[in-house]
Amino acid sequence: MTSVEKARVRAESDARAHGYYLHPDPASLQDLLEGLQRNEERYGYPSCPCRLASGAFAVDRDIICPCDYRDPDVQEYGYCYCALYIRKDVSEGETPITPIPERRPPAKQARAYDVAAETTNDKHVNIPVTLLLTNTLNLWYCKQCGYVCFREDSPYLCPICKAKKEMFAPLSITVQG
Ligand code: SF4
Repeated sequence: MTSVEKARVRAESDARAHGYYLHPDPASLQDLLEGLQRNEERYGYPSCPCRLASGAFAVDRDIICPCDYRDPDVQEYGYCYCALYIRKDVSEGETPITPIPERRPPAKQARAYDVAAETTNDKHVNIPVTLLLTNTLNLWYCKQCGYVCFREDSPYLCPICKAKKEMFAPLSITVQG
């Protein structure tokens, strides 16, 4: 069984245990599972494929999948921030998947950026995320719906609005020193 298949089995089992379903689009689901697997290889834990992880377990703990925000998001909107876990009505197409607000507190997001930026000496200029960690990851945003993910390449399909790869653009972040 490949690592991505193991991630799928884990997600399916967790979805079943909570009465959830997984993203209905096979390509988007595969993309999310690959993102989780890549993060697990990189950090040693499967941090959220849609968020910037710092690489420090204590800072990233709340965004290790399934993240602390999944259940309230599924309850309120019908799906988690990445739309990996979804509710039955969403799975059956009764509720569309559209971007939802980030529930992770801004202070925690800022902390992740700060910890990541500590790997560089220059905190006073626009630092592309590609420079923050290992020079291989980018923060990508979907120009159509605003969905954001942190990965090497842009996704083939946006899991939220189904925009194609060409609709993704890299995002630069300013880290305040
Ligand atoms: S938003 Fe979804 S995919 Fe991302 S960590 Fe939370 S549960 Fe996992």
